[in-house]
This record gives sequence, structure tokens and C-alpha cells, in this order.
Amino acid sequence: MPAGPLTTEAGAPVADNQHSQVAGVGGPVLIQDQHLIEKLAHFNRERVPERVVHARGAGAYGTFTVTADVTPYTRAAFLSEIGKETEVFLRFSTVAGNLGAADAVRDPRGFALKFYTEEGNYDLVGNNTPIFFIKDAIKFPDFIHTQKRDPYTGSQEPDNVWDFWGLSPESTHQVTWLFGDRGIPASYRHMNGYGSHTFQWTNAAGEAFWVKYHFKTDQGIRNLTAEEAAVLAGQDPDSHQRDLRVSIENGDFPSWTVQAQIMPVADAPTYRFNPFDLTKVWPHADYPPIEIGRLELNRNPRNVFAEVEQSIFSPHHFVPGIGPSPDNMLQGRLFAYGDAHRYRVGINADQLPVNRPHATEARTHGRDGHAYDGRHGGAKNYEPNSFGGPAQTDQPLWAATTVSGVTGDHPAPSHAEDDDYGQAGTLYRLMSEDEKERLIANLAGSIAQVSRDDIAERAIENFRRADEDYGKRLHAAVQALRG
Ligand code: NDP
Repeated sequence: MPAGPLTTEAGAPVADNQHSQVAGVGGPVLIQDQHLIEKLAHFNRERVPERVVHARGAGAYGTFTVTADVTPYTRAAFLSEIGKETEVFLRFSTVAGNLGAADAVRDPRGFALKFYTEEGNYDLVGNNTPIFFIKDAIKFPDFIHTQKRDPYTGSQEPDNVWDFWGLSPESTHQVTWLFGDRGIPASYRHMNGYGSHTFQWTNAAGEAFWVKYHFKTDQGIRNLTAEEAAVLAGQDPDSHQRDLRVSIENGDFPSWTVQAQIMPVADAPTYRFNPFDLTKVWPHADYPPIEIGRLELNRNPRNVFAEVEQSIFSPHHFVPGIGPSPDNMLQGRLFAYGDAHRYRVGINADQLPVNRPHATEARTHGRDGHAYDGRHGGAKNYEPNSFGGPAQTDQPLWAATTVSGVTGDHPAPSHAEDDDYGQAGTLYRLMSEDEKERLIANLAGSIAQVSRDDIAERAIENFRRADEDYGKRLHAAVQALRG
């Protein structure tokens, strides 16, 4: 804040910031007190709409460093050299809670990463889970409605949550993940991140590869039990946010080892799973993760509203050498995120310091709109033009893909092991006996709250199809609680 006296928004000195102007001692307030009116009006407009999902979050800046030669797979400039560093901003979040909700809850965590590259910003809008509840964006509004407040009760309702999951068996894998030990991380620092979707990398020769990203925490995985979380959520609702800020303030910079799984495009049609299905992983044995980099967070934002609340991440923010896959969830997000930002922060959200490119500049013919900062001055606002304005490059950012067929509301192509239950069963079976017990207890405690037997039974049946033992134990645990 510059030195000098208090001023109005227009810069005029303020004489009295303690008393409103009134018509005589004890008299009513005068409309001529523009400082008062401006102050109240600004206060009324302090909030932008909170995010419909991922409202509750915290962020930090840091550095991504390349640790392996990935030029055989991608021509992205920020990945071009071992040792190359790129500034990043990472926003963590929970999904369902409102802006003021507690951090220590059972919910996936957002892991939204912006790389400020010299070829423009690359946003990798991931989660702390490698999978998701659904595989087609057309189901997203319905799914989120079941996670948020019921229109009648105004609360999250177990009936809605389990009705939707029971009727959407593709959620079985992610629900198993969520109710397992990793469903409540101890902090944002003690969890992995995943790009979750499959993306496309294109190398300098124009060859394409499918890729998945993993960010393995260097702090080690640490989780809270349901009981620990319930206490912490009540005592310190901001636990994750505070932990991140304080650890960075103390110079204890959190870091993640970044890995990629890479699939030759020729493998995709005959792979045993649909490689573009967000409810499935690529088992490590099929495509071993290779280390590609290190991510470190080392600088806190100076202003939470400006840099965290107004930060925007768009899965469609690609750079040359990185592009989308035909994952139906990703395709929906390519539209939905930009649309949400235009509504929430405005059409010029990309111009804000946290969002604009840091290692290059945006050269567009887009102009005007709310809060336009006039950065283009008197430059021509069309293309082609004869005045030296920026022109198209004629260089596609990523490799073209071949598609054929008849348009329609088709389900995804079927692959040999593409059922909704197999990978959920694999996850269940890799858990220790202790973790299985906690998983069953967590699930049973939640399912037992539904008001109708058919909803509970349908939900349990999905877990039975994943693994007979899983279903049997869950059924018994729910019975014991429901009586
Ligand atoms: P692997 O044995 O090669 O890998 C198992 C993975 O599971 C490891 O990444 C491990 O993470 C992670 N994991 C361990 N315990 C849990 C838990 N309670 N909740 C969530 N993840 C856990 O097996 P596959 O690659 O064949 O995958 C088997 C199952 O593991 C999958 O069905 C999936 O549910 C889960 N998984 C798979 C991942 C993948 O990309 N293949 C990624 C994460 C989970 P860590 O090494 O950090 O302990």
C-alpha cells in the first residue's frame, strides 16, 4: 500500500472514516456522503460467485523441474531439457463443500496446476485420485446435485448420494477409493495428485502418444481416520489451508515426484481397458510410470482473494505438444471450465496477474468487456491485418486423430475387461486387512443412513460384484447398523 492519507476509490482524500455525514447533530445520514456510499456499495460486491464445485481451496506458487528426457514423446518447450524450470501455481481444494466448509472431510481433493510456460499457460486440472465417479460429462450436473444440498432439506442427503451411486455402477471404483484410507488426507502435502484423464503428447516429428500424469508426494502418504477427521474438522476447519501456508512460510517446501505413463497410440484400440475411461487406471504393470520431473511449492500467495479465489484453471489451456484425448469427461470439461470462469470471474479473467502468462504474453484480438485493462492500446483488433498485428502460425498444437462413424448418443467402445467392477475389486484386494475393515466400517456407516432398503441393497450389490467378500462383509455391516 503506498504511503499517504486514506482516499476514496477515485483517489480523493477522506476527511472522516469514523462518522457518516448527517443533517445536523443527531440527524439522518446525507446522500452527499459519497465516501460512505462507495464504501457500503463496494462491500456489498466483495464476493464473486463461489465455484459450484471445488469452492473450498488453497494455493501456492512453485517450480516444476524436468528430470528426464521426454523429447521422444512431446515437443512441449517446458519439457524440452533436463534441469529446465517452469514457474507453477497449484490450487488444492475439496469438491462438495461450500467456501467456508471444513478441510478435514471425506471428499476427493482438487489438484489444479498451472504451468507458466514460454509457449503459454498449460493447465493440468487434476485430483488426488487417478479415477472419477463417472465417465461422461453429461452425468456431471446430476452427480454433483447428489453431493450438494437437497432442494427440500437444504442438507447433503445420504439417500441422494447412494441412490445415484447405486444406479451408476461405474462409480464403484472411485467410491471404494473414497471410503478407503486415502479418502481423508491428513493435509494437502501428504497426498498424491493425478492428471486423471488421458492426454495426448506429440513429439517434434508429429508422432502422438497417450499419457497419464502422476504426482507422488515426497512427504509420504498420510491420512486421517473418520474419527480423527471429525474432531479436526470441528476444532480447525482450515487445517489443510493453514498447514500448506505455514509449511511454506517455514521453508519446509512440499514437493512431488512427477511420473508419466505413456501408451503408444497403436495400443489403444485393443488395450484390455478403454484407455479413455476416467473410471479406470492403466495398471502400472501394463504401462510402468516413468519419472519425468519434480514439483516444489515454495511461495505463498500475497492475497488469497486475488490469487486463489480468482485463479482459473481450464483443461483446454494446452501448449504445443500437449492436447486432449477422446475421454468424454475431458471433452465436457474442455467447455465447462472456461464457461464457469466467464460467469464467475468474467470475460477478462485471463488478464489477472495469477492467470495471465508469466513467461510469454497473450497476443489476441479479443477486446473490451468488463474490467478490460486496455493493454492493447490502439492496436488493430482483427486478423489478417496489414499493420503488423499477430498472425496465426499454421502449426497445429497437437497431432490429428482419426475418427469415423455415425453420430449418436453411443456408449464408449467396449474393450475386453471394460466392466464397472473389476478395478474396484483389484483395489479392494490390494488393501491390508486393517484397511478393509475401516473401508467396510466407513461405507456401512454411510449406507446405513439411507431411508430405503432398495437404495441400500442396490449400492451393496455393486460392491459384491467387485468382490464377493467385499459385498458379503458390507452387507453384514450394514445389517448390523440398520437392525
Ligand atoms: P499396483 O500395485 O502397481 O499399484 C497400486 C497403486 O495403488 C499404487 O499406486 C498405490 O499407491 C495405490 N494404493 C495403495 N493403497 C491405496 C489405497 N488405499 N487407495 C488408493 N490407492 C492405493 O497396481 P495397479 O497399477 O495394477 O493398480 C491396482 C489398483 O490400484 C487400481 O485398480 C487402482 O484402484 C489403484 N491405483 C492404481 C493406480 C494406477 O495408476 N495404476 C494409481 C493409484 C491407485 P502408492 O504407490 O502411492 O502407495
